[in-house]
Amino acid sequence: MNIPLQSPDNTNGPSMADYHHKNQCTWCDGCGDYGIWTAIQRALVALKLHPWQVFLCFDVGCHGNASDKLMGYRFHGLHGRVLPFAAGAKLANMDVPVIAFGGDGASFSEGVGHLVHAIRSNYPVTFILHNNENYGLTTGQASSLTWQGQPMNASPFGIPERTIASMDFIFSLQPTFVARAFSGNIKQLTEVFKAAIEHQKHGFAFVDVLQACPTYNHFATHEYLLEKCYDVTTEGHDVRDFGQARKIATDTTERIATGILYQNTNIPSFYERLEARKGITTTPVHEVAKRDVSEFMREFV
Ligand code: SF4
Repeated sequence: MNIPLQSPDNTNGPSMADYHHKNQCTWCDGCGDYGIWTAIQRALVALKLHPWQVFLCFDVGCHGNASDKLMGYRFHGLHGRVLPFAAGAKLANMDVPVIAFGGDGASFSEGVGHLVHAIRSNYPVTFILHNNENYGLTTGQASSLTWQGQPMNASPFGIPERTIASMDFIFSLQPTFVARAFSGNIKQLTEVFKAAIEHQKHGFAFVDVLQACPTYNHFATHEYLLEKCYDVTTEGHDVRDFGQARKIATDTTERIATGILYQNTNIPSFYERLEARKGITTTPVHEVAKRDVSEFMREFV
């Protein structure tokens, strides 16, 4: 399946103005959502993808409030369920780049099963994790990624559960693309997002964005992340080296590795492994469009 990741008219790609929405952002001052929101628009413009060519899916959370703050086909779903509807949309129409956004709260609790199966299935979808290590929208409760013992709203003495080692968990599922970036580095974020969108040709792309939440995350602050993060491309990291990628992704004691950590383009995506779709060049959406479904629709009116 040839996924068009560029405008049919390469001389007339979109501009940032094409993604502009009249609604104003409502995030707190200093929130990392601003950086992620800016970088995804820059990445789409750089890839010459117009708003009418992409499908953007949002989970519930502070990040989800971006769903009406930029142009594009958009869907804002139920808590923890962003990946099922993103995958469904993509499998129905493989011609459209699909980008799903979720927070660490939903993605590693309510929606963790969907994350597991999206990675093991290698769905051709890009997933961007807004990782602010708490439930910001509901006023700062601990998530599965909050540091153990960290006082939070509703748990002033810290939660008793252990923190999930999220990157170790992701690598245990044999992903085909893993990247990490910091919300304060928009230039790097843009490059990582571009690569993660292009990886849809091969399967599922997981991007962990370490996001500043100055209102509720007083431990992994903007300043802390700025000091600890380094770019793996400056140290000659080989993205094909699974063992080394897992090592630098999980060892964050002294420094935090950012950039594209791992990529494998040799494993077929879920769609490519569907026997029933072998040799078919149309998509399910195109096939349904040619049929008269009015008889079935009458059941629902
Ligand atoms: Fe951003 Fe945190 Fe405010 Fe939510 S609570 S808008 S994540 S700074």
